[in-house]
Amino acid sequence: MESRRGSVWVIAEQIDCRILSVSLQLIGHARKLADELETSVEVILLGDKIEGQTQQLFAAGADRVYLGNAPHLSFYQPEIYTEIIVKLAKERQPEIILIGSTSMGRELAPLVAARLETGLTAHSIDLLLDENKILEQRVPAYGGLLSIICPKRRPQMATIARGVFPIPELDEKRTGEIVLLDVPGEIPRRIQTLEIIREEPEGVPLESTPIVVAGGAGASDLAGWRIIAALAEALNAALGSTRPAVDEGWAGLETMIGQSGKMVSPELYIGVGLSGELQHMVGIVRAQVMVAINNDPKSPVFEQVDYGIVDDCREFIPLFIEKIKEYQGKQVTC
Ligand SMILES: Cc1cc2nc3c(=O)[nH]c(=O)nc-3n(C[C@H](O)[C@H](O)[C@H](O)COP(=O)(O)OP(=O)(O)OC[C@H]3O[C@@H](n4cnc5c(N)ncnc54)[C@H](O)[C@@H]3O)c2cc1C
Repeated sequence: MESRRGSVWVIAEQIDCRILSVSLQLIGHARKLADELETSVEVILLGDKIEGQTQQLFAAGADRVYLGNAPHLSFYQPEIYTEIIVKLAKERQPEIILIGSTSMGRELAPLVAARLETGLTAHSIDLLLDENKILEQRVPAYGGLLSIICPKRRPQMATIARGVFPIPELDEKRTGEIVLLDVPGEIPRRIQTLEIIREEPEGVPLESTPIVVAGGAGASDLAGWRIIAALAEALNAALGSTRPAVDEGWAGLETMIGQSGKMVSPELYIGVGLSGELQHMVGIVRAQVMVAINNDPKSPVFEQVDYGIVDDCREFIPLFIEKIKEYQGKQVTC
């Protein structure tokens, strides 16, 4: 479907020729925005020998795929990727560009936005159109949700974390147009990705586990953090964190939950020594049951959870672990 309004673009991301789930999630949401704007969804896919992946993008809702296929595009290369996207955007004038809030997207989006002299909202947690069909990019701020708009410049750009939108139902019968990009050869550049070395994540993965224990600044020190980690281990849960726990070096960045971290949807979430700031809590909106352990009875976290335990986590958790071990293996009737 073509209209005078520019298209909704998604910059897809692939690693080893595998399309990342966040790209499919964004295409699904781009489809909804494009239908409302009566325009098309277009996806840029850059890599090497990736033509076989285009069908997935059409199945998720793309109408057109701009395909850049070349050996020197196999890894994300910031300067070449920026060059290709900026050139194409200047030619085609998209209305909106969406990029996953991944390591690649967090770097690529500002590079592209700066070259196109437009605005960019980082880590949006929702995207909708206002009555003037302008993109409302929602981010948590000032204790609530703030809508950011870019009314004058085009394209309107946002990065969005994995898990904010669901993967759409794939319609394998959908097809679309593939436009092969005339990819520039090597250009002078200051940064070059030579190799990607993958680190095996430690412990239980956050995204696919029924129980998440998340620790915050209330751990106070590394010894306190280890107590929270022991609770996660006793429950066979994944260990998540808030930003201060990452800043202190107790936890890795990949464990951070929230607006600039991961979105999780466990059956049980236990937040320990954290205050319930919106930037963290947006990451757990899909948790089924929420518990908080905090030594301050007035902490705002208690207004947001189903069950609250007011206690010093370093004193409470060892006793809790003892009880968990007592009950493990026993059938509990509620
Ligand atoms: C743009 C932006 C993006 C952000 N993105 C994220 C994000 O993705 N994820 C994220 O987590 N944060 C994010 N933040 C930071 C966020 O705003 C908060 O600062 C952070 O979540 C607070 O972490 P916290 O609850 O661990 O710390 P605090 O707010 O300091 O809370 C610590 C809590 O621990 C309790 N406590 C202290 N001692 C004990 C004890 N012994 N036992 C039990 N409880 C105790 C205290 O009562 C307090 O409630 C972002 C901020 C900005 C501006």
